[in-house]
Amino acid sequence: MYTDNHNHTKHFSSDAKMSYQELIDTCRKQNMRGVAVTEHYEGDYPHDIGEPQIFDPKEYFEASKKWKEYAGDFPLRLGIELGWQKHLPKFYDEMVDRYPFDVVILSNHLYRGKDPYFYRECYEENMITVYSRYIDEMAQMAEDCSNYDIIGHYDYINRYAPYEDPQIRYDHCPEAFDRLFSAIISKGKSLEVNTRSIDKMKGKGFDMTYSLPDPKILSRYYEMGGRNISMGSDSHTKDTLCLLFPETAKYLSSFGFTENTYFVKRQKIGEPLI
Ligand SMILES: [Zn+2]
Ligand SMILES: [Zn+2]
Repeated sequence: MYTDNHNHTKHFSSDAKMSYQELIDTCRKQNMRGVAVTEHYEGDYPHDIGEPQIFDPKEYFEASKKWKEYAGDFPLRLGIELGWQKHLPKFYDEMVDRYPFDVVILSNHLYRGKDPYFYRECYEENMITVYSRYIDEMAQMAEDCSNYDIIGHYDYINRYAPYEDPQIRYDHCPEAFDRLFSAIISKGKSLEVNTRSIDKMKGKGFDMTYSLPDPKILSRYYEMGGRNISMGSDSHTKDTLCLLFPETAKYLSSFGFTENTYFVKRQKIGEPLI
């Protein structure tokens, strides 16, 4: 089995329901190789949703002593998922350095300052305009920040899109994708393949065997020299841990990728995809 690079617990992510015991018990039961907890940290989150979107990393590492004890010899990695905004790179780069994170995911949950999960108005303009702008902002995020390991779910924007054919594809905005990939590759970072996004599109009737994620996105990233790819289920409950990993690993390997990249103390490690 594999290392799942992207997960949330109810202890530090307000939208998650999974306890650390459920996380560890399920990983053991499924014979997983390892798991990373990557709690949400959304600095200056623009929406008031009644729950804090940040946590105190000090409290997190304090609490994690108990988690580590419970995990015993099971490899539990401690990470964070940073929600990017244009003014936050310096703050994030410095904050991350102060704590012993294993892995840092950098994500963009906003489109023009609003989270499409809550604000479907994000999709008022036509699809190409929205997707191009979103990926271009991600490219800026990848360029402006330095202290991170994985670029999270580039396809977050298509999860809630109401368009008739909503899957985000390379051909929608090739320049923006090239800009994003070139930042990831030149900085030695990893591109996440988010199986929660895959599952959402599967639910809309897309065929996962040949088209999820868009083959051109993966082949172009590979062609440009991208070799680091990280599978993450983005689980908020225990039932989706390692969701669709064997199928996704097989699909990724058909493009030439050989390893699922995970991180321990911010060091890159590869495990075979097949
Ligand atoms: Zn996310
Ligand atoms: Zn997440």
